[in-house]
Amino acid sequence: MANERLDAGGVIQHWYDADAEPITIVEGNDATVYDDAGTAYLDFLSQLYCCNAGHSNEQIVSAIAEQAERIPYVSSAKHNDTRSRLATDLAEIAPGSLSDVFFAISGSEANETAVQIARTVQDAPTILTRWQSYHGGTYGSGALTGDPGTRKTLERRAATTGVGKFLPPLPGAFDAETPEELAAQAANHVEFVLRNEGPDSVAAIVTEPIGGTSGAYPAPPGYFERLREICDEYDVLLISDEVITGFGRCGEWFGIETEDVRPDLLTFAKGVTSAYAPLAGVIADEWIGEEIRGGSYDLGQTFAGHPVACAAGEAAIDVYRNELIDQGRQVAPHLESRLHGLEERFDVVDTVRGRGLLWSVVFADPETGEPFVHPWVDDDADNPVADVRSEAQDRGALFGSGRPDVQIIVAPPLCVTREEIDEAIDALEASIEAVFGDL
Ligand code: PMP
Repeated sequence: MANERLDAGGVIQHWYDADAEPITIVEGNDATVYDDAGTAYLDFLSQLYCCNAGHSNEQIVSAIAEQAERIPYVSSAKHNDTRSRLATDLAEIAPGSLSDVFFAISGSEANETAVQIARTVQDAPTILTRWQSYHGGTYGSGALTGDPGTRKTLERRAATTGVGKFLPPLPGAFDAETPEELAAQAANHVEFVLRNEGPDSVAAIVTEPIGGTSGAYPAPPGYFERLREICDEYDVLLISDEVITGFGRCGEWFGIETEDVRPDLLTFAKGVTSAYAPLAGVIADEWIGEEIRGGSYDLGQTFAGHPVACAAGEAAIDVYRNELIDQGRQVAPHLESRLHGLEERFDVVDTVRGRGLLWSVVFADPETGEPFVHPWVDDDADNPVADVRSEAQDRGALFGSGRPDVQIIVAPPLCVTREEIDEAIDALEASIEAVFGDL
Protein backbone atom coordinates (compact mmCIF):
# COMPACT_ATOMS: atom_id res chain seq x y z
CA MET A 1 0.00 0.00 0.00
CA ALA A 2 1.33 3.46 -0.88
CA ASN A 3 2.55 5.58 1.99
CA GLU A 4 2.43 9.13 0.67
CA ARG A 5 4.18 10.52 3.72
CA LEU A 6 7.27 8.47 2.91
CA ASP A 7 7.19 7.86 -0.84
CA ALA A 8 8.43 11.11 -2.36
CA GLY A 9 7.50 12.01 -5.95
CA GLY A 10 6.60 8.47 -6.92
CA VAL A 11 9.77 6.91 -5.49
CA ILE A 12 8.93 3.82 -3.45
CA GLN A 13 11.17 4.11 -0.42
CA HIS A 14 13.54 1.29 0.51
CA TRP A 15 13.51 0.25 4.17
CA TYR A 16 10.63 2.27 5.57
CA ASP A 17 11.37 4.06 8.80
CA ALA A 18 7.77 4.89 9.50
CA ASP A 19 8.41 6.59 12.84
CA ALA A 20 10.89 9.25 11.78
CA GLU A 21 9.71 12.43 10.07
CA PRO A 22 10.73 12.09 6.39
CA ILE A 23 13.53 14.47 5.45
CA THR A 24 14.80 15.34 1.99
CA ILE A 25 18.59 15.41 2.07
CA VAL A 26 20.08 17.74 -0.52
CA GLU A 27 23.68 18.44 0.51
CA GLY A 28 26.50 17.08 2.60
CA ASN A 29 29.91 17.98 3.93
CA ASP A 30 32.20 15.65 5.91
CA ALA A 31 30.06 14.11 8.69
CA THR A 32 27.12 16.49 8.19
CA VAL A 33 24.16 16.41 5.80
CA TYR A 34 21.61 19.15 5.14
CA ASP A 35 17.92 18.92 4.30
CA ASP A 36 16.00 21.12 1.86
CA ALA A 37 15.21 23.59 4.64
CA GLY A 38 18.93 23.97 5.41
CA THR A 39 18.77 22.01 8.69
CA ALA A 40 22.03 20.24 9.54
CA TYR A 41 22.20 16.64 10.77
CA LEU A 42 25.22 14.72 12.02
CA ASP A 43 25.24 11.61 9.87
CA PHE A 44 25.94 8.87 12.43
CA LEU A 45 24.96 6.08 10.08
CA SER A 46 27.05 7.26 7.11
CA GLN A 47 23.73 7.17 5.20
CA LEU A 48 23.65 3.36 4.98
CA TYR A 49 26.97 2.53 6.66
CA CYS A 50 28.68 3.41 3.40
CA CYS A 51 29.92 7.04 3.21
CA ASN A 52 33.07 6.13 5.13
CA ALA A 53 35.03 9.16 3.84
CA GLY A 54 32.22 11.56 4.66
CA HIS A 55 30.36 13.73 2.18
CA SER A 56 31.75 15.85 -0.66
CA ASN A 57 35.36 14.74 -0.41
CA GLU A 58 37.19 16.84 -3.06
CA GLN A 59 39.65 14.16 -4.07
CA ILE A 60 36.94 11.59 -4.81
CA VAL A 61 34.73 14.12 -6.60
CA SER A 62 37.60 15.24 -8.89
CA ALA A 63 38.54 11.64 -9.70
CA ILE A 64 34.94 10.98 -10.80
CA ALA A 65 34.88 14.13 -12.95
CA GLU A 66 38.23 13.32 -14.60
CA GLN A 67 37.16 9.79 -15.46
CA ALA A 68 33.78 10.93 -16.80
CA GLU A 69 35.53 13.44 -19.08
CA ARG A 70 38.13 10.95 -20.35
CA ILE A 71 35.82 7.96 -20.90
CA PRO A 72 32.85 7.27 -18.63
CA TYR A 73 32.15 3.67 -19.59
CA VAL A 74 34.14 0.78 -20.95
CA SER A 75 32.59 -2.67 -21.44
CA SER A 76 33.10 -5.01 -18.53
CA ALA A 77 34.28 -7.55 -21.14
CA LYS A 78 37.23 -5.29 -22.06
CA HIS A 79 40.25 -3.99 -20.15
CA ASN A 80 40.25 -0.52 -18.64
CA ASP A 81 43.22 1.17 -16.98
CA THR A 82 41.27 2.60 -14.01
CA ARG A 83 39.57 -0.73 -13.30
CA SER A 84 42.91 -2.56 -13.36
CA ARG A 85 44.56 -0.03 -11.04
CA LEU A 86 41.73 -0.37 -8.53
CA ALA A 87 41.98 -4.19 -8.65
CA THR A 88 45.71 -3.86 -7.91
CA ASP A 89 44.94 -1.56 -4.96
CA LEU A 90 42.35 -4.00 -3.62
CA ALA A 91 44.77 -6.93 -3.86
CA GLU A 92 47.33 -4.86 -1.96
CA ILE A 93 45.02 -4.05 0.96
CA ALA A 94 43.24 -7.43 1.08
CA PRO A 95 44.41 -9.90 3.73
CA GLY A 96 46.60 -12.95 3.01
CA SER A 97 46.72 -14.31 -0.50
CA LEU A 98 43.43 -12.74 -1.62
CA SER A 99 44.38 -11.24 -4.95
CA ASP A 100 41.87 -11.63 -7.79
CA VAL A 101 38.93 -9.25 -8.10
CA PHE A 102 35.60 -9.94 -9.80
CA PHE A 103 33.63 -6.68 -9.84
CA ALA A 104 29.89 -6.32 -9.23
CA ILE A 105 27.56 -3.39 -8.58
CA SER A 106 25.89 -3.99 -5.22
CA GLY A 107 26.66 -5.91 -2.05
CA SER A 108 23.78 -8.28 -2.80
CA GLU A 109 25.30 -9.14 -6.16
CA ALA A 110 28.78 -9.48 -4.71
CA ASN A 111 27.49 -12.12 -2.29
CA GLU A 112 25.58 -13.94 -5.00
CA THR A 113 28.72 -13.94 -7.11
CA ALA A 114 30.85 -15.25 -4.23
CA VAL A 115 28.33 -18.06 -3.74
CA GLN A 116 28.41 -18.95 -7.43
CA ILE A 117 32.21 -18.95 -7.44
CA ALA A 118 32.28 -21.16 -4.33
CA ARG A 119 29.79 -23.58 -5.85
CA THR A 120 31.84 -23.67 -9.04
CA VAL A 121 35.23 -24.39 -7.49
CA GLN A 122 33.92 -26.73 -4.80
CA ASP A 123 31.40 -28.48 -7.04
CA ALA A 124 28.95 -28.52 -4.11
CA PRO A 125 25.54 -26.86 -3.80
CA THR A 126 24.99 -25.87 -0.17
CA ILE A 127 25.91 -22.63 1.56
CA LEU A 128 25.68 -22.08 5.32
CA THR A 129 24.92 -18.66 6.82
CA ARG A 130 23.96 -17.31 10.23
CA TRP A 131 20.64 -16.37 11.67
CA GLN A 132 20.91 -12.66 12.63
CA SER A 133 22.78 -11.76 9.47
CA TYR A 134 22.27 -9.57 6.43
CA HIS A 135 23.75 -10.43 3.04
CA GLY A 136 21.33 -8.70 0.67
CA GLY A 137 17.71 -8.53 -0.41
CA THR A 138 17.78 -9.80 -3.99
CA TYR A 139 16.65 -13.29 -5.00
CA GLY A 140 19.85 -15.19 -4.23
CA SER A 141 21.40 -12.96 -1.58
CA GLY A 142 18.04 -12.75 0.22
CA ALA A 143 18.26 -16.50 0.73
CA LEU A 144 21.55 -15.97 2.57
CA THR A 145 20.15 -13.27 4.85
CA GLY A 146 19.06 -14.41 8.30
CA ASP A 147 17.64 -11.45 10.18
CA PRO A 148 14.00 -11.73 11.17
CA GLY A 149 12.99 -8.33 9.76
CA THR A 150 14.21 -9.18 6.27
CA ARG A 151 13.06 -12.80 6.48
CA LYS A 152 9.57 -11.57 7.20
CA THR A 153 9.50 -9.78 3.84
CA LEU A 154 11.36 -12.46 1.91
CA GLU A 155 9.97 -15.68 3.27
CA ARG A 156 7.46 -16.16 0.46
CA ARG A 157 9.53 -14.48 -2.24
CA ALA A 158 13.21 -15.45 -2.19
CA ALA A 159 14.86 -18.67 -3.18
CA THR A 160 15.84 -20.46 -0.01
CA THR A 161 17.04 -23.69 -1.53
CA GLY A 162 20.69 -24.50 -1.09
CA VAL A 163 21.12 -22.38 2.03
CA GLY A 164 21.28 -23.77 5.56
CA LYS A 165 21.32 -21.53 8.63
CA PHE A 166 23.24 -21.80 11.89
CA LEU A 167 22.90 -19.88 15.15
CA PRO A 168 24.97 -16.74 15.70
CA PRO A 169 27.55 -16.56 18.50
CA LEU A 170 25.23 -14.44 20.63
CA PRO A 171 24.48 -14.98 24.33
CA GLY A 172 20.72 -15.47 23.72
CA ALA A 173 21.38 -18.35 21.32
CA PHE A 174 23.47 -20.48 23.73
CA ASP A 175 23.65 -21.18 27.41
CA ALA A 176 27.24 -20.10 28.06
CA GLU A 177 28.74 -18.56 31.18
CA THR A 178 31.79 -16.94 29.58
CA PRO A 179 32.73 -15.57 26.13
CA GLU A 180 35.15 -18.49 25.72
CA GLU A 181 32.36 -20.99 26.41
CA LEU A 182 30.09 -19.12 24.00
CA ALA A 183 32.77 -19.27 21.28
CA ALA A 184 33.21 -23.03 21.80
CA GLN A 185 29.48 -23.82 21.90
CA ALA A 186 28.69 -21.65 18.86
CA ALA A 187 31.56 -23.14 16.82
CA ASN A 188 30.64 -26.71 17.80
CA HIS A 189 27.10 -25.96 16.66
CA VAL A 190 28.41 -24.87 13.22
CA GLU A 191 30.29 -28.16 12.99
CA PHE A 192 27.10 -30.03 13.96
CA VAL A 193 25.08 -28.27 11.23
CA LEU A 194 27.85 -28.87 8.69
CA ARG A 195 28.08 -32.58 9.47
CA ASN A 196 24.33 -32.95 9.22
CA GLU A 197 24.10 -31.12 5.90
CA GLY A 198 26.82 -33.49 4.71
CA PRO A 199 30.25 -31.84 4.42
CA ASP A 200 30.66 -32.94 0.78
CA SER A 201 27.56 -31.00 -0.18
CA VAL A 202 28.64 -27.76 1.52
CA ALA A 203 30.59 -25.30 -0.64
CA ALA A 204 31.04 -22.43 1.80
CA ILE A 205 30.17 -20.66 5.01
CA VAL A 206 29.24 -17.01 4.45
CA THR A 207 29.48 -14.72 7.43
CA GLU A 208 29.94 -11.11 8.42
CA PRO A 209 33.07 -10.84 10.59
CA ILE A 210 31.18 -8.40 12.81
CA GLY A 211 27.40 -8.69 12.52
CA GLY A 212 26.29 -5.45 10.84
CA THR A 213 22.66 -4.41 10.66
CA SER A 214 21.76 -7.35 12.90
CA GLY A 215 23.32 -5.40 15.73
CA ALA A 216 27.05 -4.75 15.26
CA TYR A 217 28.02 -7.84 17.19
CA PRO A 218 31.61 -9.08 17.26
CA ALA A 219 32.16 -12.77 17.85
CA PRO A 220 33.60 -13.91 21.19
CA PRO A 221 37.38 -14.50 21.16
CA GLY A 222 38.38 -17.78 19.53
CA TYR A 223 35.17 -18.24 17.51
CA PHE A 224 36.58 -17.29 14.12
CA GLU A 225 39.78 -19.23 14.69
CA ARG A 226 37.70 -22.35 15.32
CA LEU A 227 35.47 -21.59 12.32
CA ARG A 228 38.57 -21.45 10.12
CA GLU A 229 39.75 -24.79 11.51
CA ILE A 230 36.35 -26.36 10.82
CA CYS A 231 36.39 -25.02 7.24
CA ASP A 232 39.86 -26.49 6.70
CA GLU A 233 38.95 -29.81 8.28
CA TYR A 234 35.86 -30.30 6.09
CA ASP A 235 37.20 -28.56 2.97
CA VAL A 236 34.63 -25.79 3.01
CA LEU A 237 35.37 -22.20 1.91
CA LEU A 238 35.08 -19.28 4.34
CA ILE A 239 33.51 -16.19 2.76
CA SER A 240 33.79 -12.95 4.69
CA ASP A 241 31.00 -10.50 3.86
CA GLU A 242 32.80 -7.17 4.29
CA VAL A 243 30.08 -5.03 2.72
CA ILE A 244 29.73 -3.01 5.95
CA THR A 245 32.91 -3.94 7.78
CA GLY A 246 35.36 -3.09 4.98
CA PHE A 247 37.38 0.05 4.35
CA GLY A 248 38.35 1.03 7.87
CA ARG A 249 34.91 0.72 9.43
CA CYS A 250 36.15 -1.57 12.22
CA GLY A 251 39.68 -0.17 12.55
CA GLU A 252 41.46 -2.27 9.90
CA TRP A 253 41.00 -2.37 6.14
CA PHE A 254 38.69 -5.35 6.58
CA GLY A 255 36.76 -6.63 9.61
CA ILE A 256 38.13 -10.18 9.39
CA GLU A 257 41.62 -8.77 10.05
CA THR A 258 40.46 -7.82 13.54
CA GLU A 259 40.01 -11.60 14.05
CA ASP A 260 43.34 -12.48 12.46
CA VAL A 261 41.73 -15.14 10.31
CA ARG A 262 42.15 -15.76 6.58
CA PRO A 263 39.01 -15.97 4.40
CA ASP A 264 39.01 -17.70 1.00
CA LEU A 265 36.72 -15.12 -0.57
CA LEU A 266 35.85 -11.64 0.59
CA THR A 267 32.94 -9.52 -0.63
CA PHE A 268 32.91 -5.73 -0.59
CA ALA A 269 30.65 -2.82 -1.62
CA LYS A 270 29.53 0.37 0.20
CA GLY A 271 32.77 1.93 1.54
CA VAL A 272 34.91 0.98 -1.47
CA THR A 273 33.88 4.24 -3.16
CA SER A 274 32.61 5.81 0.08
CA ALA A 275 29.28 5.44 -1.80
CA TYR A 276 30.20 8.17 -4.30
CA ALA A 277 29.26 5.66 -7.03
CA PRO A 278 27.87 2.12 -6.91
CA LEU A 279 30.59 -0.53 -6.90
CA ALA A 280 31.06 -3.92 -5.31
CA GLY A 281 32.92 -7.15 -5.86
CA VAL A 282 34.57 -10.31 -4.68
CA ILE A 283 38.26 -10.71 -3.88
CA ALA A 284 39.29 -14.32 -4.30
CA ASP A 285 42.27 -16.24 -3.06
CA GLU A 286 44.90 -16.72 -5.76
CA TRP A 287 44.09 -20.40 -6.35
CA ILE A 288 40.36 -19.64 -6.77
CA GLY A 289 41.19 -16.82 -9.20
CA GLU A 290 43.30 -19.29 -11.20
CA GLU A 291 40.39 -21.74 -11.41
CA ILE A 292 37.77 -19.28 -12.59
CA ARG A 293 39.93 -17.31 -15.01
CA GLY A 294 39.94 -18.07 -18.70
CA GLY A 295 36.26 -18.72 -19.27
CA SER A 296 35.23 -21.40 -16.80
CA TYR A 297 33.23 -18.75 -14.92
CA ASP A 298 31.75 -16.98 -17.95
CA LEU A 299 29.32 -14.52 -16.37
CA GLY A 300 29.13 -10.78 -15.72
CA GLN A 301 27.07 -7.62 -15.56
CA THR A 302 27.13 -4.57 -17.83
CA PHE A 303 27.82 -2.01 -15.13
CA ALA A 304 30.13 -4.12 -12.97
CA GLY A 305 33.46 -2.36 -12.49
CA HIS A 306 32.09 0.84 -14.08
CA PRO A 307 35.15 3.08 -14.70
CA VAL A 308 33.58 6.14 -13.03
CA ALA A 309 32.92 4.06 -9.92
CA CYS A 310 36.42 2.55 -10.13
CA ALA A 311 37.90 6.06 -10.26
CA ALA A 312 35.93 6.88 -7.11
CA GLY A 313 37.22 3.67 -5.52
CA GLU A 314 40.83 4.42 -6.38
CA ALA A 315 40.56 7.91 -4.86
CA ALA A 316 38.66 6.69 -1.79
CA ILE A 317 41.31 4.06 -1.05
CA ASP A 318 43.95 6.77 -1.33
CA VAL A 319 42.05 8.94 1.17
CA TYR A 320 41.61 6.00 3.59
CA ARG A 321 45.28 5.07 3.26
CA ASN A 322 46.66 8.58 3.73
CA GLU A 323 44.41 9.86 6.47
CA LEU A 324 41.13 8.27 7.39
CA ILE A 325 41.98 4.76 8.63
CA ASP A 326 44.25 6.40 11.20
CA GLN A 327 41.81 9.17 11.98
CA GLY A 328 38.99 6.65 12.52
CA ARG A 329 41.21 4.59 14.82
CA GLN A 330 42.01 7.64 16.89
CA VAL A 331 38.41 8.70 17.60
CA ALA A 332 36.92 5.20 17.96
CA PRO A 333 37.83 4.75 21.67
CA HIS A 334 36.07 8.02 22.47
CA LEU A 335 32.88 6.84 20.75
CA GLU A 336 33.12 3.52 22.56
CA SER A 337 33.46 5.14 25.98
CA ARG A 338 30.61 7.60 25.34
CA LEU A 339 28.34 4.70 24.34
CA HIS A 340 29.28 2.66 27.42
CA GLY A 341 28.22 5.73 29.39
CA LEU A 342 24.68 5.17 28.08
CA GLU A 343 24.77 1.55 29.23
CA GLU A 344 25.77 2.70 32.71
CA ARG A 345 23.13 5.38 32.87
CA PHE A 346 20.02 3.66 31.47
CA ASP A 347 18.58 0.30 32.54
CA VAL A 348 16.76 0.05 29.20
CA VAL A 349 20.14 -0.09 27.46
CA ASP A 350 20.83 -3.79 27.69
CA THR A 351 24.16 -3.94 25.87
CA VAL A 352 26.52 -1.76 23.92
CA ARG A 353 28.68 -3.70 21.47
CA GLY A 354 30.72 -3.19 18.34
CA ARG A 355 34.20 -2.54 17.04
CA GLY A 356 35.97 0.53 15.64
CA LEU A 357 33.29 2.86 14.27
CA LEU A 358 30.49 0.27 14.07
CA TRP A 359 28.42 0.08 17.25
CA SER A 360 25.02 -0.98 18.42
CA VAL A 361 23.04 0.22 21.44
CA VAL A 362 20.71 -2.67 22.23
CA PHE A 363 17.52 -1.96 24.17
CA ALA A 364 15.50 -4.38 26.30
CA ASP A 365 12.69 -4.16 28.82
CA PRO A 366 14.56 -4.09 32.17
CA GLU A 367 11.73 -6.05 33.86
CA THR A 368 11.76 -9.00 31.49
CA GLY A 369 15.12 -8.66 29.73
CA GLU A 370 13.18 -9.13 26.47
CA PRO A 371 13.26 -6.82 23.42
CA PHE A 372 10.40 -4.31 23.20
CA VAL A 373 9.18 -5.64 19.84
CA HIS A 374 9.76 -8.67 17.68
CA PRO A 375 9.12 -8.43 13.94
CA TRP A 376 7.28 -11.78 13.69
CA VAL A 377 4.90 -11.19 16.56
CA ASP A 378 4.42 -7.46 17.13
CA ASP A 379 3.17 -6.29 13.79
CA ASP A 380 1.83 -2.89 14.74
CA ALA A 381 3.33 -2.50 18.19
CA ASP A 382 4.71 0.89 19.17
CA ASN A 383 8.45 0.64 19.14
CA PRO A 384 10.13 2.93 21.68
CA VAL A 385 13.53 2.31 20.05
CA ALA A 386 12.23 3.81 16.80
CA ASP A 387 10.93 6.74 18.87
CA VAL A 388 14.43 7.29 20.28
CA ARG A 389 15.83 7.43 16.74
CA SER A 390 13.14 9.85 15.69
CA GLU A 391 13.81 12.08 18.74
CA ALA A 392 17.53 12.06 17.89
CA GLN A 393 16.73 13.16 14.35
CA ASP A 394 14.75 16.09 15.78
CA ARG A 395 17.88 16.93 17.79
CA GLY A 396 20.06 16.92 14.65
CA ALA A 397 21.64 13.45 14.77
CA LEU A 398 20.85 10.54 12.43
CA PHE A 399 21.34 6.94 13.60
CA GLY A 400 20.68 3.56 12.02
CA SER A 401 18.11 0.95 12.90
CA GLY A 402 19.05 -2.63 13.54
CA ARG A 403 17.17 -5.52 12.03
CA PRO A 404 15.25 -6.42 14.18
CA ASP A 405 14.64 -2.85 15.27
CA VAL A 406 15.57 -3.31 18.93
CA GLN A 407 18.83 -1.43 18.60
CA ILE A 408 20.32 1.81 17.42
CA ILE A 409 23.26 1.43 15.10
CA VAL A 410 26.01 4.02 15.39
CA ALA A 411 28.38 4.24 12.41
CA PRO A 412 29.72 7.73 11.65
CA PRO A 413 32.12 8.44 8.77
CA LEU A 414 35.80 7.87 9.54
CA CYS A 415 36.39 11.64 9.32
CA VAL A 416 34.18 12.29 12.38
CA THR A 417 35.71 14.47 15.11
CA ARG A 418 35.61 14.05 18.91
CA GLU A 419 33.42 17.15 19.13
CA GLU A 420 30.93 15.70 16.65
CA ILE A 421 30.88 12.45 18.62
CA ASP A 422 30.07 14.37 21.79
CA GLU A 423 27.35 16.36 20.05
CA ALA A 424 25.67 13.29 18.51
CA ILE A 425 25.88 11.11 21.64
CA ASP A 426 24.56 13.99 23.77
CA ALA A 427 21.58 14.11 21.37
CA LEU A 428 21.14 10.33 21.69
CA GLU A 429 21.30 10.51 25.47
CA ALA A 430 18.68 13.28 25.59
CA SER A 431 16.49 11.26 23.22
CA ILE A 432 16.64 8.10 25.36
CA GLU A 433 15.72 10.25 28.36
CA ALA A 434 12.83 11.86 26.45
CA VAL A 435 11.37 8.46 25.52
CA PHE A 436 12.10 6.40 28.64
CA GLY A 437 12.62 8.99 31.38
CA ASP A 438 15.40 7.85 33.71
CA LEU A 439 14.72 4.14 33.24
N1 PMP B 1 26.05 -7.52 3.12
C1 PMP B 1 25.97 -6.75 4.20
C2 PMP B 1 26.76 -7.13 5.42
C3 PMP B 1 25.18 -5.60 4.20
O1 PMP B 1 25.09 -4.86 5.29
C4 PMP B 1 24.49 -5.26 3.02
C5 PMP B 1 23.63 -3.99 2.92
N2 PMP B 1 23.30 -3.38 4.08
C6 PMP B 1 24.58 -6.10 1.91
C7 PMP B 1 25.38 -7.22 1.98
C8 PMP B 1 23.84 -5.82 0.64
O2 PMP B 1 24.41 -4.74 -0.02
P1 PMP B 1 23.55 -3.91 -1.08
O3 PMP B 1 22.50 -3.18 -0.33
O4 PMP B 1 24.59 -3.01 -1.72
O5 PMP B 1 23.00 -4.88 -2.05
